[in-house]
Amino acid sequence: MSILNSCTHRRYVEGIEILDPFYEEGWNDHSEKYIYKEGYVESTVVDVDLHRYKCTQCGEIFYYSTRAEAHYTGSTPDESIKESNARWLKRNRE
Ligand SMILES: [Zn+2]
Repeated sequence: MSILNSCTHRRYVEGIEILDPFYEEGWNDHSEKYIYKEGYVESTVVDVDLHRYKCTQCGEIFYYSTRAEAHYTGSTPDESIKESNARWLKRNRE
C-alpha cells in the first residue's frame, strides 16, 4: 500500500513505567518490578474505508490511489471502487 500524499501530523506517545511482564515475586530479588517502556511516534491517520484514510488531527482526507481520488473528488466515477467499498463497509459493520 502506498501513501500518495499525507499531512505531516504525528503524535508522540510518552514513555511510561510499566509492570515488567516477566517479573515474578520472589524469583529474583534483584529484578525490577517496573520497566520503562520507551515513548514512540505514531501516525494519526485512520482508515475511512477501503480507499480513503483520514488524519485525526486536521481531518484531512487522503486516498490510497489516484483512481480513488478521482472517484471521490467527482471527476471520474469508478464502479469497481464503489463496489469494493460497499463490500468492505458491509464486512466491517458485521
Ligand atoms: Zn493532519
